[in-house]
Amino acid sequence: MKRPSILVLGAGYGGLTTVVNLQKEFGTDAVDITLINKNEYHYESTWLHEAAAGTLLPEQVRYDIKDVIDGVKVKFVQATVEAIDVVGKKVSTDNGEFTYDYIVIALGFEGETFGIEGLDKYALSIANVKAARYIREHIEFQFATWSAEPVKDDSRLTIIVGGAGFTGIEFLGELANRVPELCKEYDVPREKVRVVCVEAAPMVLPGFDPELVNYAVGHLESKGIEFSIGTPVVEATPEGVKIKKGDDEFEFIKAGTVVWAAGVRGNRLIEATPIENMRARVKVDKDLRAPGFDDVFIIGDCALMINEETNRPYPPTAQIAMQQGENVAKNLKALISGDTTVEFVPDLKGTVCSLGEDDAIGVVFGKKVTGKRASFMKKMIDNRALFMIGGPKLVMKKGKFNVL
Ligand code: FAD
Ligand code: NAD
Repeated sequence: MKRPSILVLGAGYGGLTTVVNLQKEFGTDAVDITLINKNEYHYESTWLHEAAAGTLLPEQVRYDIKDVIDGVKVKFVQATVEAIDVVGKKVSTDNGEFTYDYIVIALGFEGETFGIEGLDKYALSIANVKAARYIREHIEFQFATWSAEPVKDDSRLTIIVGGAGFTGIEFLGELANRVPELCKEYDVPREKVRVVCVEAAPMVLPGFDPELVNYAVGHLESKGIEFSIGTPVVEATPEGVKIKKGDDEFEFIKAGTVVWAAGVRGNRLIEATPIENMRARVKVDKDLRAPGFDDVFIIGDCALMINEETNRPYPPTAQIAMQQGENVAKNLKALISGDTTVEFVPDLKGTVCSLGEDDAIGVVFGKKVTGKRASFMKKMIDNRALFMIGGPKLVMKKGKFNVL
């Protein structure tokens, strides 16, 4: 009898957790497991703001997929998925076509620009490790050019960060530390550099604890970061961004770098399938299957689940993506063994938002934390994610031990 085949798309937090747990659930030769990912490496999406600011090298935020999977039980294929045919049960890639009995779609997030004019073209997004490296090099290029040009254009040294959500704030925290280093390296007076965060909502980190938000804003402002709050970006051009300051009042901020960190959506490939979705996110059934498609699981940032206590979607996070990966592995084992699947229930332990290398804010197990203690916790959370996927060996290789 033919062995059941499981195809996992994406080796991010969700996909890789699924695969390492499938390895535990199934013995050799029980199922055919294939993992498809664009790159031969996994990158820590949760560290991308550091690679983008240049406080971590791109090599530090990624590791080889082959180092954490069992090559006997799992076939890894480096390929870019081009289309998912959930009716014909096949996937087209730039490296051939793959069929499946069960599929796990874990293709992650893309930056959302909400159709705002010029953003797709002129703003940079911290979307993956290559994009992060590009942002870092773009900023360095602006500093180097300013330093070398005989007639100086100071707007080269203005960096706009669109969005004061967690990504925007974590990126600002890194920039706050990186800018003085860049100034030293490229002989730029610090007062020439502007880092401006533009947020549409009336507060930074909308919905987060106000006391912690004040702490974060105070910390960042003390390091020279400027905030423009309640002023949505309405257009981007090659020269900078236009922001709305009142009913008929607009301001144009000239800037050499615009980084868009104002929200995410699911992977566009979902939109080309017949599965109902909102901005490429699928409201999955309780056992993480796509409604109407019993052999399709969708997890991570491509999945949408409603928190029944708040009646709002759970925010897309690595924390949830990894827990979903564990759940899907169990549910695949159940389906293949003829058992029933189990409901996914998120176990939220809290949120910690870094403010650079040695400061952070957060709520962990219901308690507020700030400063070095919060920063230590953030590093432990980062190390835990490594441990869950690659065990102690990966933590030793990639872990964050620079705790103060
Ligand atoms: P991803 O981790 O994005 O992985 C998707 C994978 O699919 C990638 O390997 C990608 O290369 C691959 N892929 C994409 N398209 C294709 C294709 N066409 N073909 C083949 N492969 C493809 N969450 C937290 O819980 N805590 C945090 O501290 C935190 N910090 C963050 C910081 C930043 C800067 C950002 C941007 C996000 C952060 N998040 C955090 C959110 C978290 O990173 C995401 O929720 C998480 O990465 C989602 O996991 P995923 O498996 O769905 O997708
Ligand atoms: P987000 O949706 O959480 O925040 C986006 C921000 O951009 C919001 O504050 C929004 O008001 C603002 N915005 C939207 N349109 C705008 C406009 N036109 N002009 C200016 N501002 C605008 O997105 P994110 O910060 O990218 O986070 C994405 C997901 O990743 C979230 O689920 C988040 O929880 C998670 N994340 C978690 C962490 C952490 O736990 N430390 C870090 C980063 C990201």
